[in-house]
Amino acid sequence: MSAPVPTPHPDRPVPERHVPERTCAACRRKRPQSDFLRLTRTPQGWQLLAGRRQGRGAYLCADSPACWQEKKLRRAFGAQAARLAGELAERRAQAGGPGAQPDRRDTLYSETMTP
Ligand SMILES: [Zn+2]
Repeated sequence: MSAPVPTPHPDRPVPERHVPERTCAACRRKRPQSDFLRLTRTPQGWQLLAGRRQGRGAYLCADSPACWQEKKLRRAFGAQAARLAGELAERRAQAGGPGAQPDRRDTLYSETMTP
């Protein structure tokens, strides 16, 4: 005689995927992390470092130039606000409009492989 196979709990609700929320350092709005630019605190000060997730971070709305103004940044970044405001404005100029080119890092890698 074999005992009945224990069944999983079909009624158990599937947990929703947790979307980490962050708060904008300028306007204090809460949004999903993907909507933000991340600033990383380094020994040299706050830096816009894409892709790096180490150290302390701060977030600014990626689509809201109003959040990149020096006077808004000053509350969170103090004396570095002016420099960061400049970097953010530059970044926006480089990002361009709808015609902006995506990053071509893949091409660079394959060129390196060529003998
Ligand atoms: Zn904001």
